[in-house]
Amino acid sequence: MSTKYIFVTGGVTSSLGKGIISASLAKLLQARGYSVTIQKLDPYINVDPGTLNPYEHGECYVTDDGAETDLDLGHYERFLNVPTSQANNVTTGRIYQTVINKERRGDYLGKTVQIIPHITDEIKNCVTKLGNRGIFEIVITEIGGTVGDIESLPYIEAVRQFRYEHGHKNTLVIHLTLIPYLKAAGELKTKPTQHSVKTLQSQGIQPDILVARTEYPLTNDQKKKIALFCNLPSDSVIESLDAETIYDVPILMEEERLDKVVLEKLELDERSKPDLSIWKNFLTRFKNPSSTIRIGLVGKYIELQDAYKSILEALVHAGVANEAAIDVTPIQSDDINDKNVHNLLKSMQGVIVAPGFGKRGIEGKISAIKYVRENNIPFLGICLGMQCSVIEYARNVMNMTNANSVEMDSKTDFPVINMMEGQKSITNLGGTMRLGAYACKIKEGSLAHRIYQRTEISERHRHRYEFNSAYQDQFEKAGLKATGINPETNLVEIVELENHPFYIGVQFHPEYKSTVANPHPLFVQFVKAAVGEKVAIPVE
Ligand code: GLN
Repeated sequence: MSTKYIFVTGGVTSSLGKGIISASLAKLLQARGYSVTIQKLDPYINVDPGTLNPYEHGECYVTDDGAETDLDLGHYERFLNVPTSQANNVTTGRIYQTVINKERRGDYLGKTVQIIPHITDEIKNCVTKLGNRGIFEIVITEIGGTVGDIESLPYIEAVRQFRYEHGHKNTLVIHLTLIPYLKAAGELKTKPTQHSVKTLQSQGIQPDILVARTEYPLTNDQKKKIALFCNLPSDSVIESLDAETIYDVPILMEEERLDKVVLEKLELDERSKPDLSIWKNFLTRFKNPSSTIRIGLVGKYIELQDAYKSILEALVHAGVANEAAIDVTPIQSDDINDKNVHNLLKSMQGVIVAPGFGKRGIEGKISAIKYVRENNIPFLGICLGMQCSVIEYARNVMNMTNANSVEMDSKTDFPVINMMEGQKSITNLGGTMRLGAYACKIKEGSLAHRIYQRTEISERHRHRYEFNSAYQDQFEKAGLKATGINPETNLVEIVELENHPFYIGVQFHPEYKSTVANPHPLFVQFVKAAVGEKVAIPVE
């Protein structure tokens, strides 16, 4: 079978949840036995989101092959349980970089290099590259941004050409819009959707399916009206009511027959009914927890939910595995000090210290770690969180008073966290950290071993600094053990404390690998330890 291509565009406003709709559709098609992947094309000029501040763009998600990508890829993996790669996220910056590199090499043989055809060709290449791998029967390509933006024009044009070249039965366009509810008029309004579809049509694309985000159910008449104005049969107008959780969306889309309409239009077999048993089981448990666990998340970007997306979702998965709802209390690390830490953390059943970069909030993270260490509160430190646990131990247990990471204090007497050797000569910030999957060997009998139940693991990374092995013996003697080591470089990947109910710091990012079908063992066991620590709050 030749690969079929589905494009998902958005109109009216941003943040409508194109990523979740794409992931939900992919889930339904996968549950019918199709092999599906999802790709995101982002119209901004950054080559990747790796250099973006989390306040700008939310979390930077990292793939096994070390791509720094949009956080939507996290949703794709969490929904599909299939790893993504660099090819699954392409930005305008990357497209232009490729085209300009080709031009410098002389590949265009004296031609004038233009948006059409050179940029549009490169966009199409990025789409077919996934299709041509021969692994996926269906490639879903989400176009970031909103139709009508200047930035998205080349993408829309590329989709138009793609359809022309691959034919309508091999390609499909789904347009997602908002049907706003006007409180004063007491009405849902279809006009912005009409305008958005007209914009798409004026750029040469007739969508095949319209997915309408709405707070209230659409009446049949409203659906018919949208269908008429958008030039669509009325079964191609799919209502997407606000959902209680993102994990409800595949089920809602199945009820709305989105997958059926898609298969019909692409002339594909329905195969079996979607097998969503694991998914539905997850949802039932998610909605019927027997207790609530309060977890403190200490970080410096806590004002923006998206900044720690994968951690929050990994906690959801781990909560479900423990039949517990997780009540995450975000705590601004900047605001924590040794005086207020007791009040801020005393009711937490577990504390996560988040990843991050730079000095701000570091001292607060260290105060939080001292508190959880001394008060036997389950602790999980991720990346910078792990590095802070090393600093805290050095300062407060080993009397290295001004111990620090050289990232924060290059003149410290005790550089317990040092820059990795390979990083010292690097000047460019973009794409140059230690990125992606690396192996880690776990010490038998350690907490990490009990958590993972194996001694060889692979986890994803994103960092420049590392535990300074020159101090390893001293730390081990003082009780902070290195229990996970990279077998090739000896880099310390895991530290843990004896005589504590659950205290572990990891240099890698376990949150990137937690999915609905495979909750991450570190989060599952962390939550389990938290359940045991203090009396969980019963669910009313
Ligand atoms: N800033 C630290 C480093 O570069 C930690 C990075 C992180 O938390 N992702 O090593």
